[in-house]
Amino acid sequence: MADTQKAIIYKGPGEFAYEDRPVPEVEHGDDVKIKVYGCAVCGTDVNIFATPQKHPCKKDIIFGHEFCGEVAAVGAQVTNLEPGDKVIIDPHGPCGHCDNCLAGLPEACDEVFLGPDSGFDGQALTMGVFADGGLTNYVVLPQKCVYKVGADAKPELMGMAEPLAGCGYALEKLNVHVGDTACVLGAGPIGLMFTALLKASGCRKIIVSEPIEYRRKKALEVGATCVVNPEQEDVGKIVLEETENLGVDHCIEAVGGLIPDCIAYVRPRGKVLQYGHDELIRPEIPVGTLLKKEVEIHGGFLGKYYMRKVGQIIEDGVLPLEKILTHVIPASRYKEAIELASSYQCGKIFVSIDF
Ligand SMILES: [Zn+2]
Ligand SMILES: [Zn+2]
Repeated sequence: MADTQKAIIYKGPGEFAYEDRPVPEVEHGDDVKIKVYGCAVCGTDVNIFATPQKHPCKKDIIFGHEFCGEVAAVGAQVTNLEPGDKVIIDPHGPCGHCDNCLAGLPEACDEVFLGPDSGFDGQALTMGVFADGGLTNYVVLPQKCVYKVGADAKPELMGMAEPLAGCGYALEKLNVHVGDTACVLGAGPIGLMFTALLKASGCRKIIVSEPIEYRRKKALEVGATCVVNPEQEDVGKIVLEETENLGVDHCIEAVGGLIPDCIAYVRPRGKVLQYGHDELIRPEIPVGTLLKKEVEIHGGFLGKYYMRKVGQIIEDGVLPLEKILTHVIPASRYKEAIELASSYQCGKIFVSIDF
């Protein structure tokens, strides 16, 4: 009989349980068995546990998708990894041979998305959301999902790799230049990652709008030049004051439904990035403003090729990730982690495996 391990299992809206599951073993030549260090809490996890539920999740799977660990064993074909290597994980590895992969768009891989009509009406088939994920001791996954990082990389920062890859790749589309101005709506972990990336990219003004005081303070720590409480202040007015009445070059939506505000805050030919992910929201777009200002709008979600770069960013300390990571909570107290994330009084939370 196979050995068993404890795992956090998603049991349906608002519920999880600790259950015993078989320890997976290497079966295929390209398999990599990982001893999990831990798994960060994602905004998607909060949306899955929210009432009403804002993101679907498959019942009875091992939960958690932002995980990292070290190699425990490898299949015969895996030559670039060996036991003991620290690794970050892409929880939805692209196939490498579909039309989108071949076109250099692995984020849109046919195997990453499943939808009734087209891939994009569906869902990314993320491990830890639609298949077994990382909140357990051991995971086996194909080599294409596994990226080695240096021996000095800190596990709690490695847990930020997957969301940071999505942010970094999305930001490249905006072509940010030194001296540009930017506005970030929302200073949750994703908004904070964008703030840090914009700072590292040389923006001279980074205006961050966020109602929670804890998060506004964090934004200032990681690079915001000005923070605004949108519940008490007029964000649009402050954007104009900070940008010589022009509007910002770049506006990043890291909440969910604020794209109309982004269109209002950018300068003519300004660029908007929709990154906040709320499947229920249908904002009304001000078409007149959009076309007169010639606004350029981008979407962003996953970042594949950027995974390797993220490993290097973590190793070399390019971004103040220690400041974005605010809590480490053991997996045996997972409820606390979800409650804290749902309270928004935190940055990124890393759940360490302690069973
Ligand atoms: Zn995530
Ligand atoms: Zn593909």
